[in-house]
Amino acid sequence: MKKVTLIAVAILFSGATVFAAGLPVKAVSDTTKTKKVKPVAKPEKVQYTCGMHPDVLSEKPGKCPKCGMELVKKEPAKKKAETMKM
Ligand SMILES: [Zn+2]
Repeated sequence: MKKVTLIAVAILFSGATVFAAGLPVKAVSDTTKTKKVKPVAKPEKVQYTCGMHPDVLSEKPGKCPKCGMELVKKEPAKKKAETMKM
């Protein structure tokens, strides 16, 4: 009887451990999935350009290497791009 009780306790304990360990992992993965499913904003390729030098393009905000002016965000003009494609 003692042996059976020991096994039962062992199973119960290991089961509880797996349950306890499995729950947070599932919750974390679920949260990650939810985040992936509904992204708040698409990480669009934002480019920064200089007002004086349109040929200066940077993926990060900074200063123009030519004149030192602060780079401004270049808005991705979708309509323009489509017109350009055609
Ligand atoms: Zn410039």
